Amino acid sequence: MDSQMLIGGDFLDGEGAEQEIVNPKTGAVITRLAEAGTAQVEKAVAAAARAFPAWSATTPAERSSCLLKVADAIEKEAEAFASLEALNCGKPINAVRNDEMPAIVDCWRFFAGAVRSMQAPVAAEYLPNHTSMIRRDALGIVGSIAPWNYPLMMMTWKLAPALAGGNTVVFKPSELTPLTALKMAHLLSAILPEGVVNIVFGRGETIGNAIIHHPGVDMVSITGDVATGKKVLSAAAGTVKRTHLELGGKAPVVVFNDADMDAVVRGVRTFGYYNAGQDCTAACRIYAQDGIYEKLVADLAGAVSTLAFDRPDDTENELGPLISRRQRDRVESFVTRAAEQRHIEIVTGGGVAGERGFFFRPTVVAGALQDDEIVRREVFGPVVTVTRFSDAEQAMQWANDSDYGLASSIWTKDIGKAMRLAARLRYGCTWINTHFMLCSEMPHGGMKQSGYGKDMSIYALEDYTVPRHVMISFAD
Ligand code: NAD
Repeated sequence: MDSQMLIGGDFLDGEGAEQEIVNPKTGAVITRLAEAGTAQVEKAVAAAARAFPAWSATTPAERSSCLLKVADAIEKEAEAFASLEALNCGKPINAVRNDEMPAIVDCWRFFAGAVRSMQAPVAAEYLPNHTSMIRRDALGIVGSIAPWNYPLMMMTWKLAPALAGGNTVVFKPSELTPLTALKMAHLLSAILPEGVVNIVFGRGETIGNAIIHHPGVDMVSITGDVATGKKVLSAAAGTVKRTHLELGGKAPVVVFNDADMDAVVRGVRTFGYYNAGQDCTAACRIYAQDGIYEKLVADLAGAVSTLAFDRPDDTENELGPLISRRQRDRVESFVTRAAEQRHIEIVTGGGVAGERGFFFRPTVVAGALQDDEIVRREVFGPVVTVTRFSDAEQAMQWANDSDYGLASSIWTKDIGKAMRLAARLRYGCTWINTHFMLCSEMPHGGMKQSGYGKDMSIYALEDYTVPRHVMISFAD
């Protein structure tokens, strides 16, 4: 198992405090790793600064070729990456193998293509005797900080557009899930010039904090909690860094009487509980119209109670445990407080499962009201609420009444209604008659306190570059 950080082409052990890396399925320690010392963060930023002039001067074709090699190398080692990710996160192996790994490889390939075909206004004489042209240049050094829910995929979403755009990077995985990033360190160092990517390991309050405050870092890209995003924003003010914030979510799922109920139940069973609900787009906040409310609650409870999470043969499991004891306790406390409300019924699940590891039973909370904590706050666990509504106007108001603004969905056979309502939802993404489906060509990112900046798509490449105007005078 790879355990060293990558700093300026060297593989180094951390000089800081030791951290335990835990298997969420069993609670057992997988390994112990020392986090970086602050001097090592300095070295990583210095290495990225040294690498920047040459890397940013490479042609799009050269960078594209490197990204394609990264994609090929990940694909070749997909099984090893999948096993490591499953071990460190507790994910079912099939979810990583069949869903995450192909999406990760595709994302590297997408940005390899995208960087060779960026668009801009045409060069022309917008003032007489002056030719204007647009360049899109690298920003500099990107401090990139990832969460624990999809470690390798979030690393990919951050590194691929940053590198395609000509930036150099100091990357920090979550202190809970560094193992695939440390494996990636070897893969990347065999393909990229020294210092282009540096990988440091450590906690948020130590190493993350050092990165976001570092005056040599030009941009901070973080996926994490809203509270962490706010810390990044205030640190960025110090040297006016560019920020790219992918923060939490609390996706509304608006289900009308005329929806295809089988599709709704199948969809919520899958997209509300995928990755044990530790997903910022999880279909977790259902608004069900009163004509189908009872049936939806009953059918969903039945379907969710069949979700497989504790089978000895892991290939049969559909979800895994929560990432840590702390996260499981947090989820449990949300459900316990909700269950104390008289109007709420826990129709399935509702508690911790098993003796070992950090499992929580897939849970459906019926009868939840708009002002309930469990409807308003991000639980980030296998917990879905159902709230009854009568008319579309009320559903729209409740759906938008959230601090979050990442993802949403509308379920109805009336596509005209769906389109009218989709236009009014204040979310970075609205799905109609589905949920959670992502592709490399389309942007993923939030509004409101879910943050701003897009992952994937050409918009991410724009976020990690800056348009510059160059004007030539040719007057006599
Ligand atoms: P977190 O904010 O605790 O940690 C995210 C990363 O930030 C980690 O690497 C952590 O070490 C680092 N960090 C924490 N405090 C820091 C600080 N003071 N300075 C610098 N870095 C710091 O979040 P998490 O618990 O790892 O992830 C779960 C959260 O991420 C959820 O809220 C979830 O919704 C969000 N998330 C959002 C998206 C999205 O695309 N919008 C995707 C995945 C996860």
